[in-house]
Amino acid sequence: MKKYILPILMLTIFETVAITLWLTKDNLFYLFNFSYIGCSIALGLFLFIKKYKHARRVTQLLVGTYMLIYLGLICNENMQIEGFWYYLFTGVFEAATIHYAVAKIFGPLIFGRGWCGYACWTAMVLDFLPYKVPKQPRKKIGWIRYIVFAISLIFVAALFLAHVGNIERIMFWAFIIGNILYYAVGIGLAFLFKDNRAFCKYICPITVFLKPMSYFSMLRIKCDTSKCISCGKCKRVCPMNVDVTDNSRKRENGTECILCFECVKECPKKAL
Ligand code: SF4
Ligand code: SF4
Ligand code: SF4
Repeated sequence: MKKYILPILMLTIFETVAITLWLTKDNLFYLFNFSYIGCSIALGLFLFIKKYKHARRVTQLLVGTYMLIYLGLICNENMQIEGFWYYLFTGVFEAATIHYAVAKIFGPLIFGRGWCGYACWTAMVLDFLPYKVPKQPRKKIGWIRYIVFAISLIFVAALFLAHVGNIERIMFWAFIIGNILYYAVGIGLAFLFKDNRAFCKYICPITVFLKPMSYFSMLRIKCDTSKCISCGKCKRVCPMNVDVTDNSRKRENGTECILCFECVKECPKKAL
């Protein structure tokens, strides 16, 4: 049973959140929502333990399509960062605010950037592209994320300050247009830089939350340096250019790790 501890732990965390929110908010939706996500994550981890090659992708597609199609398009919830600002300004602790709190602000203290590896609907599409392993060195343009972050905040703040009517409808269209833009830019950059995750590395505004919180993540890939032969295979297959052989929290690109386990699969000495 010991090897199944991680899927059990993740399922327990999500069920705790599901039941707590269901009871405190008196809304059955939260029970369904977080149970579904927890089960999808646990299934992916279980399949990984069973050495199924596409385990992570199973979870990513289950959660990503659910959030994009069901929550976004059918339930009209803007789960993008604009939706988070919108709910924050209205003072409502619902949908996008809860989603951000769990997946992107406090959750990363436990599971790092698991969201980016197993749930994000933007990366779900980008991961189908041909450059799973970056073919070019990392660029020094990560500052763009802060500009995108500021634009999203200014956009929503301006709607409130100008007392624009029907902001809820605007948020729905912002979700549609925002996603189309994200996909277009993400796919364009992936081909330009020959790197599927270029959008995640340079543009995505959510990393402004994810990076500092995941620095303290409980769940991390660690290296048994007594087994490591410094072959460099782990770094070569890493989609996020993390130096996983360094166990310190300050390791190169440490806050970029999406827990995809590609390095673990590749290590010839089972040092990770
Ligand atoms: S960095 Fe942004 S786009 Fe990339 S996986 Fe994470 S949340 Fe999604
Ligand atoms: S390959 Fe390893 S270090 Fe790189 S993102 Fe995946 S889990 Fe993290
Ligand atoms: S792949 Fe394994 S043995 Fe090679 S450098 Fe990485 S941790 Fe060390």
